[in-house]
Amino acid sequence: MKKTILDVSLKDKKVLIRCDFNVPIKDGVIVDDTRIVESLETIKYAIKNNAKVILLSHLGRVKEEKDLLTKSLLPVSKRLSELLDQEVIFINETRGEKLEKAINNMNSGDVLLIENTRFEDLSFKLESGNSEELGKYWASLGDIFINDAFGTIHRAHASNVGVATYLPNAIGFLVLKELENLEQLNSPLKPFVAILGGSKVNDKIGVIKELVKKADYILLGGGMSYTFLKASGKEIGKSLLDTENIEFCKDILKDYGQKIILPVDANVSVDMNEASSNHITPVDAISENEMGLDIGKETINLFKDYLKNAKTILWNGPMGVYEIEKYQTGTKELLNIISNLDAVTILGGGDIVAASQEFGYKDKVTHASTGGGATLEYLEGKTLPGLEVIENKE
Ligand code: AMP
Repeated sequence: MKKTILDVSLKDKKVLIRCDFNVPIKDGVIVDDTRIVESLETIKYAIKNNAKVILLSHLGRVKEEKDLLTKSLLPVSKRLSELLDQEVIFINETRGEKLEKAINNMNSGDVLLIENTRFEDLSFKLESGNSEELGKYWASLGDIFINDAFGTIHRAHASNVGVATYLPNAIGFLVLKELENLEQLNSPLKPFVAILGGSKVNDKIGVIKELVKKADYILLGGGMSYTFLKASGKEIGKSLLDTENIEFCKDILKDYGQKIILPVDANVSVDMNEASSNHITPVDAISENEMGLDIGKETINLFKDYLKNAKTILWNGPMGVYEIEKYQTGTKELLNIISNLDAVTILGGGDIVAASQEFGYKDKVTHASTGGGATLEYLEGKTLPGLEVIENKE
C-alpha cells in the first residue's frame, strides 16, 4: 500500500504537487476544465492544512519554439484561481531566480503554479527524458512531493519519478481514487464483461491478452473489431484494418473464441463524414467500397444480452466514430444500458470517457478514469513508474 497525502504532515511545508492540468485549450480559452476540477480535492486539502502549495503539470507536447506560445499554463492558473476562489501565483518559468524567490516569499496556504514542465523538453527532452539534474532541481524547491497526476503515472518523467526520487513522497486523492477503483478489477465480481472498441488493435493487444484470462466475455466494437472480423473470414470492405495484427486476432479467436463476442451488423458508409449516406447491414454483407463506422441495432441487442447480468463492466474505446452524430448510437446506447445496471462500471479513460461526458453518462458510472494510457498499462499488469517510486506505508 502506497503512502497517501493523509499519511504526511503538510503544515508550513513546501508541498510540490504533480497535477494533470493537460486540458484542451483553443485560442487561449480552456474548452474543458474537468482535469482542473478533478485536481481540486488534493489542492484544497493541502491549502486547508497550511501547506505552501507548489503545483507542477505538463500541457500537451512541446517540440518547437512556437509551442511555447500556445502551451503556457497561464489560462490554467486563471481558471484554477476562480475555482479555488483565491490567488494562484503563476510563474512563467520552469526554473531560475524568479521562481525561487516567489517560492521563498510564499506564506502557508498560498498556491503557486510553475510553467508547463514540458517547456524543459525543448532542449534535450529534459522533462520527458527524466533528467536527473532537473528532477533534483525541482525537488530542491520543496519539502514533500505528492503525485496526483494519474494520466502520466505510466511515464518516468522528471516531474513525477525524478522529483519523487529526491523527496519524501505520497500519492494524492485523485491517484488514490483511481487505484481503489481499478483494484476492483483484480478480483472482479462475476460475471465480468469487458467492452473494447476504439481504432487500433495494436494499442490494446496487452490488455486483450490479460482480459481473456480474467473476463467472462469481451464485447468487441469500434474500428478494432473489423480486424477481428477479417480474421474470422469476413470481408470488411474499406473498414479499418490493422493488417499486422490479423494473425494475433486469429490466435485469440482460436483460443478464446467463446469469450470474444463480435458485431453481427454495422452502420456503414462509403466515407467517414457527416454528408455521405449510411445504412445498417449484416457484417456478412459489407460491400467492397463501404466501411463500418458504428455497430448496428442487432449488435446492440446482442451486447445487451451479455451485459444485463454482469456484475463488473470495464469499457475502453468507443463503439463507433462517435465524433460524427450518426455514428454515436452504439456508444450512446451501451452507455445507457450499463448506467442502469446494478454493477461496478468502469470507463478506462480516453475517448470513452470523453463520449460519456458528452452524452451525459459520466456521472452515472462507478468510475470514469482520468488516464487512458495509464489505465491500459495498469490492466496489462505493467509497473507504473510514477507509482513505483512512491514510498510504501509502514
Ligand atoms: P482509441 O484511441 O483507440 O480508443 O480510438 C478512439 C477513436 O476510434 C475515436 O476517435 C473513434 O472515432 C475511432 N473509431 C471508433 N470506431 C471506429 C470505426 N468503426 N472506424 C474508424 N474509427 C473508429
